[in-house]
Amino acid sequence: MEKKDIRSMTPEELEAFVVNDLKDKKFRARQIYDWMHVKCVQNFDEMTNLSKDLRQKLSENATLCPVEKADCLISQIDGTRKYLFRMEDGSIIESVLMKYKHGNSVCISSQVGCRMGCRFCASTLLGLERNLNTSEMLGQIYAIQRDTGERVSNVVIMGTGEPLDNYDAVVRFIRMISDEKGLNISQRNITLSTCGIVPKIYQLADEHLQITLAISLHASDNEKRKSMMPIANKYDMDTLLEACRYYYETNGRRLTFEYSLARGVNDSPEDARALAKLLKGFMWHVNLIPINPVEERSYVQSDRKSIVNFKNSLEKYGGNVTIRREMGRDIQAACGQLRRRYMTQIGEKEV
Ligand code: SAH
Repeated sequence: MEKKDIRSMTPEELEAFVVNDLKDKKFRARQIYDWMHVKCVQNFDEMTNLSKDLRQKLSENATLCPVEKADCLISQIDGTRKYLFRMEDGSIIESVLMKYKHGNSVCISSQVGCRMGCRFCASTLLGLERNLNTSEMLGQIYAIQRDTGERVSNVVIMGTGEPLDNYDAVVRFIRMISDEKGLNISQRNITLSTCGIVPKIYQLADEHLQITLAISLHASDNEKRKSMMPIANKYDMDTLLEACRYYYETNGRRLTFEYSLARGVNDSPEDARALAKLLKGFMWHVNLIPINPVEERSYVQSDRKSIVNFKNSLEKYGGNVTIRREMGRDIQAACGQLRRRYMTQIGEKEV
């Protein structure tokens, strides 16, 4: 029998597994759930209030899909921690812990690699290896919480991968991480960032989650967006914004639009004006991201003055604009760069 991924199971599913497959008592399921999702252990031996016999049965029939720390870099500038995790099949992913005054925020990966092909992004250079399952997404947060001994209060699904391309596992993850039987992180403290897979935005809206949806827009017209993001060939700007409107109307949650500024590409005052015009009628918040230059890509970061000018012109139109602080610059904390470097080094060693 293939080992069951029990960390992805809801309390009800786990109960059925314990009773039907392991032929044990119902209340054992509650104890196991608590070990996995509150105490965040990553192996059965740590579940000390279970009998040896049950732990043995668990290790024969189930897996926790452990997410093991392979490396951790700590920024000397702001305490940001970049983790590289190794999974059971040897795949490597990265997660970032950012410390803010309002709490600890973890940026998780949702896939190993990515197939969206955004031209400025390092995560997509090697394509998609596979989806992460719910266990492996939870595992990133649990491992970080155990490693630091500090509570994680915010989650952003903005690491490697396109979360809406791994829809079921991601939605299950959101429900489980916000469940009161687990870490109970408020859905209002969870942000999901997407490049804009339109049918999935509608589907997500109908889940009625209280999360913040962030849309990677990066341009104010179709042609420019197409040159930066292949997904724009499939869904044009109007179609995307219509889906955003539906999301807002269905959930009453203000959307965030992400806009990475690349010098000479999308950072002029005309771009700012066009963006404000495009978002007219929305309750909007724009998060400006100074683009992180990726070695293999030609985009260059806008200078500070253009970034501030862009922000000021946008604000004139009445929106809420923030510039994303660059965290952990000294440890390559941005956008798949550390994993990329790690993979390249492994590649070089093998040659
Ligand atoms: N697939 C999701 C999450 C990915 S990354 C999405 O597309 O939204 C989170 C954000 O970082 C996205 O807005 C993405 O476009 C942006 N991003 C990726 N690479 C970047 C880079 N090199 N510089 C600046 N922003 C980048």
